[in-house]
Amino acid sequence: MSSNERTFRELGLSEYLLRSLDELGYEKPTPIQSASIDPLMAGKDIIGQAQTGTGKTGAFALPLLNKIDMKINAPQILVLAPTRELAVQVAEAFGSYAKHMKGFHVLPIYGGQSMQQQLNALKRGPQVIVGTPGRVMDHMRRGTLKLDTLKALVLDEADEMLKMGFIDDIEWVLEHKPANSQLALFSATMPEQIKRVANKHLNNPVNISIAASHTTVESIDQRFVQVSQHNKLEALVRVLEVENTEGIIIFVRTRNSCVELAEKLEARGYASSPLHGDMNQQARERAVEQLKRGKLDILIATDVAARGLDVERIGHVVNYDIPYDSEAYVHRIGRTGRAGRKGMAILFVTNREMRMLRTIERATNSRISPMKVPSPETVAERRLSRLGEQIQETLNGDLDFMKNAVAELCQQLEVDTDLLAAALLQQVQQERPLQLPTITERQRDSRDDRSERGDRGGDRPRRERGNRPAPTSFGSADTLKDNPDVKMNRYVIDVGRENGVGVGNIVGAIANEANIDSRFIGQIQLFDQVTTVDLPDGMPKDILSHLKKVRVCGRPLNIREAGDEVFVDSGRGAPRKPRSDRPRGDRPRGDRPAGAERRPRKPRDNG
Ligand code: AMP
Repeated sequence: MSSNERTFRELGLSEYLLRSLDELGYEKPTPIQSASIDPLMAGKDIIGQAQTGTGKTGAFALPLLNKIDMKINAPQILVLAPTRELAVQVAEAFGSYAKHMKGFHVLPIYGGQSMQQQLNALKRGPQVIVGTPGRVMDHMRRGTLKLDTLKALVLDEADEMLKMGFIDDIEWVLEHKPANSQLALFSATMPEQIKRVANKHLNNPVNISIAASHTTVESIDQRFVQVSQHNKLEALVRVLEVENTEGIIIFVRTRNSCVELAEKLEARGYASSPLHGDMNQQARERAVEQLKRGKLDILIATDVAARGLDVERIGHVVNYDIPYDSEAYVHRIGRTGRAGRKGMAILFVTNREMRMLRTIERATNSRISPMKVPSPETVAERRLSRLGEQIQETLNGDLDFMKNAVAELCQQLEVDTDLLAAALLQQVQQERPLQLPTITERQRDSRDDRSERGDRGGDRPRRERGNRPAPTSFGSADTLKDNPDVKMNRYVIDVGRENGVGVGNIVGAIANEANIDSRFIGQIQLFDQVTTVDLPDGMPKDILSHLKKVRVCGRPLNIREAGDEVFVDSGRGAPRKPRSDRPRGDRPRGDRPAGAERRPRKPRDNG
């Protein structure tokens, strides 16, 4: 068996880790994981050429977690990451893999976060630290972070750290790591300076790069849709509505997402079934058989389960989650375009996976063309025309009885046939409405329109007929005018106009309590009982829980992400206050603002 085929258990991971991986629904190691786990467990240094989306976090986190001594409450693994966002993400991955390791503690540290809070957290003795280079160096210099107990250091996205001007900080940290500790360097590209760091600091490293597949698949029309993780389901549903589809396979990464997506599609009226490695052979065969016979149209599959699947009816492959490498991509899309038929492969990519998309294009020597998410109007048109087709079939039958019923109903309700027909259509369309509800894209469009007109009033609740306030969602965060590179998130707090709060109170409270420079507090909108505040993405959990309890106008803020919450308001949405009127947060000197450590980076999609 090649190393690629080994399971997580065969790679020798502890029961604690295996349990978490099982709960996360991971079925098998990704290629980079298969290649990295052995050498890292054996104590070797590695240099891995891999990018986001390949499973590289697990590739270093799993084997290194396996080595942690839970009796020692001091840093044993240090990961350097280019951005606050990535640091938080990597820390979260460690946390989820180590979920069953009692007493495990991981800490993300980055600029912009309160020093005092970091110091307190460091005192608790986390075994894993994930930090941006500048802040890690600050703590090492102050003596608040010591590396004597360090077993391994990881440089994640080394080329990105180089681009952000962190190379000197990295070298400085490397020079202070214990001589017997391991070093793992991951980078999507290998510029000269990274090679130089690698040559100087890596000790006889194992080189890992994942072989690319060069197969071209001409009978398959390959497309990609750029979509945020948040909007994937809506985009998928629209694609399913508009494309002339027969059998479809939708690929996801984990068993859990497989089951979840199947349930969501079922709830929306699509005949679909999951197909994953934990289903017994009989259940899997049944699902495939039903797809073959047209009793099912959609299978949602993991790579493991779809291996060798050969069903002529499959006209579409949707890569809902991007595959780990080009080989998996070729394998997945090869499920369509069989037996001389044409097939279509649609790949969903988030912003941060665009690089992976280009790698796949290069490796497979094929072009994947962009495709837009079908607009609500296109979906509505398609629904109407489908309804027309169904009615056409009914028109061919005997309708004498119904014609009499129509006449009677018109008389009883005192309406003409047009109005009656409209009312009946209204009833018929319930599951697939012909007027699509507003979704995020639309909200963004209308916001953009407003800002072009210079109206910064934000998302005022729309009014229904008769001036009744309509339920509205809070929408998503706007970018900062002066710092468009900082990714923002919209939060809701439980204090609003009715509590007598003003924008100044909110800015003051957040700036002081969360230690955020007021320049990084974005749009604020007051509603009757709540207020929305745009803040830099990736607010650490401890700051959020602190802010929850902070009181303004006598009420705890209870801050939370705006998410999909819907609210009703009398509609007097307050405009944002000019920035110059805002109180300044009292940041400690020398501390960089949140989200802006060194050069702020373009916003990344959280995937
Ligand atoms: P990364 O490349 O580390 O950013 O990982 C990309 C995504 O793949 C993350 O959402 C991981 O949770 C997921 N992932 C990593 N390893 C596996 C695996 N072996 N099976 C399924 N999903 C995975």
